[in-house]
Amino acid sequence: MNNFIARIIMLLISINGISDITACHSGIYSIYSHYHKSKSSQQVVFVCMGKYSEAYHSSANCRGLNNCSSKIYQVNSDYAVTTLDRRPCCICWNVSSYNCATDKQENRYPGYISPLPADDLINAAIQKQRNYNTGKEIVQEEINKLTNVRTQLTRTCDIEYFDQLVTNAINSINNGNPDLSLQTHVNWAVNIARSVANNQYITQSVYSSRIYYQMVNEYNQLTYSQKNTTQGTNFYDYFMNWYNSENPATTLSYKSFYSF
Ligand SMILES: [Zn+2]
Repeated sequence: MNNFIARIIMLLISINGISDITACHSGIYSIYSHYHKSKSSQQVVFVCMGKYSEAYHSSANCRGLNNCSSKIYQVNSDYAVTTLDRRPCCICWNVSSYNCATDKQENRYPGYISPLPADDLINAAIQKQRNYNTGKEIVQEEINKLTNVRTQLTRTCDIEYFDQLVTNAINSINNGNPDLSLQTHVNWAVNIARSVANNQYITQSVYSSRIYYQMVNEYNQLTYSQKNTTQGTNFYDYFMNWYNSENPATTLSYKSFYSF
């Protein structure tokens, strides 16, 4: 390309700050504002912006840049040394060996695509996936706790009522389509699951079931004649009346055999 036209293009790019000249990886990119603002005495150098680049080059054609699969930028030498922490390339600068650096091979891993931004995206995605898995576990644990509540119910009507509440809760959670990588969404889903366990009729029925078994146990310890007295029959009818009720709202409060 004509050198003069190239300079005009560079100048145009400098107006907009950092710009890509070309999408091709072998293109030279200008951090031109640094160059433009600097004194004219400062030297223009070339740097590869790859992860393993350590040198700055006197020419974009230096074979030390052949390994660069990232972008090559044109910067001033001060910027390269102080900001980018680069040393002169061992190939294209005439400096002693311990003051120079060589850009390292970048494509060490197959499938390695680009420098930092991609890594950040991947890390963010990994973190999001971790959060999602944790969130899903938390919601699942809450659903599992409901199984424990269910085993504490005795009457068929309570179990049916409970199962309907669970179905509704799971449908609500699924229809809400929560993003379980977000704490607020997880809390929302957990609260729906907890609302089943905390349902007034369910907590009452869990309590009544406990009372029921306590009274059945007491009844079984009665003598044959005690069971067959009016007192025994009333005692039995009292807790069986609750047991046979088909209304989840009915409750059972404890009464001793001797209070009848
Ligand atoms: Zn070089």
